[in-house]
Amino acid sequence: MSRTMLKESPNAALDKTIINRYMELPQPDGKIQAKYIWIDGTGEGLRSKTRTLDFLPKDPSELPEWTFDGSSTYQADGANSDIYLKPVAIYKDPIRRGNNRLVLCETFNSDRTPTKTNLRYIANKGMEAIKSLEPWFGIEQEYTFLDFDGKPLGWPKNGFPGPQGPYYCGVGADKVIGRDIVEAHYRACLYAGVKIAGTNAEVMPSQWEFQVGPCVGISAGDDLWIARFLLHRIAEDFGVIATLDPKPVSGSWNGAGAHTNFSTKPMRNDGGLAEIEKAIAKLSKKHERHIAAYDPRGGKDNARRLTGICETSSIHDFSSGVANRNVSIRIPRGVAEDGKGYLEDRRPSSNCDPYAVTDALVRTCLLNE
Ligand code: ADP
Ligand code: MN
Ligand code: MN
Ligand code: MN
Repeated sequence: MSRTMLKESPNAALDKTIINRYMELPQPDGKIQAKYIWIDGTGEGLRSKTRTLDFLPKDPSELPEWTFDGSSTYQADGANSDIYLKPVAIYKDPIRRGNNRLVLCETFNSDRTPTKTNLRYIANKGMEAIKSLEPWFGIEQEYTFLDFDGKPLGWPKNGFPGPQGPYYCGVGADKVIGRDIVEAHYRACLYAGVKIAGTNAEVMPSQWEFQVGPCVGISAGDDLWIARFLLHRIAEDFGVIATLDPKPVSGSWNGAGAHTNFSTKPMRNDGGLAEIEKAIAKLSKKHERHIAAYDPRGGKDNARRLTGICETSSIHDFSSGVANRNVSIRIPRGVAEDGKGYLEDRRPSSNCDPYAVTDALVRTCLLNE
C-alpha cells in the first residue's frame, strides 16, 4: 500500500470546539439535510454528498433520484459522466442529528444498467428469490487504525510493539489503542439504526472488530456499509485513518477479515445441523468461486491474509470443522451441541463487498448455482 507520508493529520489539528457554535444554530422547521452515500468505482471507497429536503422521508421510494460526476469516482468517462443515485435505505444521521438522514444509494449508468460496483442490485435479486428461507447474516468487521504516516496508530515509529498475546479484548493503556473512536462509533451506529451486535479489541495492537447482525437478507450489506461510512467519518474527526486492508502489517501480525455468519430458518430449527452440513458440502465444491468474490481484487488481497497461519486457512484449500479457527468454514461449538444454528465463513476479506459475499452464499447454498 502506498500513501503520501504526512507529518500530521490536518483534521486532527483543527480546533474541534469551534464547529459547535454553528451546529447549535436552530435548524429551520421542515428543512432536512439528507446525505446520499454510495460505493465508488473501486468497490471499496465510499462517497457522499448532501442535499436539502423539505420533507421528512419515511421510505426510500419517497426520495428523489440524484446524479453525480462518475468521471471523478472511477465510475464513468468524462464524455458521459452522469451516474444515477437511487436511494435504497434510510438511517438517522448521528453526526448532524435531529431529523437529518443518511441515505444509502445504488448506482446506475446512463442507460439504467447497474454500475460494475453496484453488487447490491444482483444480490437483492437472489435474496428475493429465497426470501421464504429467511436468510440471516452476521458480519464481523475487523479493521486497523493507522497514523497519518501509514503505520498502525500508536506503534513505535522505529520498530514494533511486543508480540501478540496481551492485546485481544485487552484493557489498559499498554494493551489497547484508539478506544475513544470505537466507543464513539458504537453509539453512532446504535443511533443511526445500524444493527450493530458488538465490538472487541483484536489480536494485533490498534486492530479492532465490530459485528453487525443478525440481519435479514440484503440489510446485512446495507448496515455494514453504513457502519463502515460512520467508522471512516468518525476516525476523520480524530485525524486517524481506519483501514480495511486485510494484511496491514506483513509477517506474524494478524490480518483482518470479515467472517460471515450465515443461517436459514431450516438451519435454525431443530435438526438444523443436517442443513448446515448440506450447505458446507455445497461450499466445498465452489471454493474458487467464493475466493474470487471475497475481496475486491478477485482473491489477490486475501492471498496476503489467508496464509494458513494467524488463525486462517490456506487460500488454496477448502476445510471445515467444529470450533476450529484454522478452517474455511467453522461450526461454532454451541451450534454443534444444540444441533442447530449457523455456520461461519472465515474467508471473506476485511475489505470485501458484503453484497458479493452474502450473494455467493445464497447462490451456492440455496439456489444451487
Ligand atoms: P466469533 O466467535 O467468531 O468472534 P462474534 O461474536 O464476533 O463471533 O460474531 C458472531 C456473529 O454471528 C454476530 O454478528 C451475530 O449477530 C451473528 N449470528 C448469531 N447467530 C446467528 C445466526 N443464527 N445466523 C447468522 N448470524 C448469526
Ligand atoms: Mn468475532
Ligand atoms: Mn475477530
Ligand atoms: Mn469469527
